[in-house]
Amino acid sequence: MEAKKELLGLQMEEMEELMQSLGEPSFRGRQVYKWIYQKGINSFYEMSDLPKHLRTKLDEHCVISMPRLLKQRVSHDGTRKYLLELKDKKRIESVIIPQSYEKEDKYTLCLSTQVGCPVGCAFCATGKSGFQRNLEAYEIVGQLLSSRRELSRKLRSNAESLITSVVYMGMGEPLLNYDATLKSIHILNEHRGINLGQRHITISTAGEVNGIKRLARENMQITLAVSLHAPNDVLRNKLVPLNRKYNLAVLMDAIEEYMSINNRRVTIEYVLLDQINNSEKEARELISLIKPLNCHVNLIPYNEVKGLPFKRPSRLSIQSFYRILLEAGMPVTLREERGKDIEAACGQLAARKEHKITSAGNSS
Ligand code: SAH
Ligand code: SF4
Repeated sequence: MEAKKELLGLQMEEMEELMQSLGEPSFRGRQVYKWIYQKGINSFYEMSDLPKHLRTKLDEHCVISMPRLLKQRVSHDGTRKYLLELKDKKRIESVIIPQSYEKEDKYTLCLSTQVGCPVGCAFCATGKSGFQRNLEAYEIVGQLLSSRRELSRKLRSNAESLITSVVYMGMGEPLLNYDATLKSIHILNEHRGINLGQRHITISTAGEVNGIKRLARENMQITLAVSLHAPNDVLRNKLVPLNRKYNLAVLMDAIEEYMSINNRRVTIEYVLLDQINNSEKEARELISLIKPLNCHVNLIPYNEVKGLPFKRPSRLSIQSFYRILLEAGMPVTLREERGKDIEAACGQLAARKEHKITSAGNSS
């Protein structure tokens, strides 16, 4: 039997073409598109404005595979972590973070782009779990649809308006899965579907220079965040192995190029690792490296990972690093911690059960 066609991940034009190939008018494609992306419906029989014969035909030939929710955990701060299963049984995690403590109606969604990660940063749970495969665009977007549906059920509120921003900061290196990541952004952005503004989308990269250069030419309004973590090559080679391919000089050139083409400020992420990259020396080096670019710096206190030797610095030392940057006139923020009690914080995601090295606790 011929395999059913996957509809999730199709863009509007592709959906219209598909309907034409099935002998239907193209506006049916727009209707199906809305059901999938606005309402999060994956059963053709629930698409009540389609004629019955079309629902049956679609059910025979097509499928909408949203990732299956296996487990979820809710943090005391309202952060939710979802363990999702893909068609081939591989598992990924997505995290939904409330934008404020008071209101539970606006959320940021943290998406994964790969199962595991090939970059292998020394301090990261995902990196240590190894690399399994890239996600397809439909699996990236599917994370939004599955987690949003679950959240709207729990909160008994309208799914469409719940997720107001998306960060590509889950498992994997988005720019090493460039085409699927880009396609997923276009789908999130489509005003006749999910309708998330590009300015509400952030991609975080470990410094995949080729990808940064390509992205610079896409003419998009998304925010680019670069995970620097070290202000010199000796240290960065150890922490972020991708630095051996693209050293800091090459990376900084790419960032400069990105900013000059897009006219958008890039965010520099810097995870604070005790006694590794958090002394005054590193703070000063960081300032001289990035001050000329006028980037925004986001300091991330390390979230400890079981089985890895890195430690989070003391509050005092985090504050003093922060202050050195602030006093030097850098635009700097200290990332607020969310979901730490459920291992949903940055870099604590790993496709557990399949790997030995995991973050503390488990998602069951
Ligand atoms: N692969 C991309 C995006 C995913 S990671 C990247 O590396 O940028 C999102 C951010 O979390 C990155 O800045 C990453 O370095 C950081 N991170 C990874 N592990 C962490 C941990 N245990 N604690 C705090 N931040 C971590
Ligand atoms: Fe991959 Fe990012 Fe983790 Fe590095 S920090 S291993 S690039 S997910």
